[in-house]
Amino acid sequence: MRLRADTGVCAGAGQCARVAPDLFDQGDDGLVVLRRADADGPARDRALLAADLCPSGALRVTDPA
Ligand code: SF4
Repeated sequence: MRLRADTGVCAGAGQCARVAPDLFDQGDDGLVVLRRADADGPARDRALLAADLCPSGALRVTDPA
């Protein structure tokens, strides 16, 4: 799975970094920082959960296949 995070719509809520700290971080301004652009195996479920919990719709998880 491929991850994308749009800092233009991120609200800095931090849900993503809490449920998937290996994939997402927050900058000093609170906005999402993508740690990895790929999420396969167990990371896939965390990526999907983070996208589901994100209140602003800033996260996209897509299947490149
Ligand atoms: S959960 Fe969404 S709004 Fe919150 S920091 Fe992550 S991307 Fe931004």
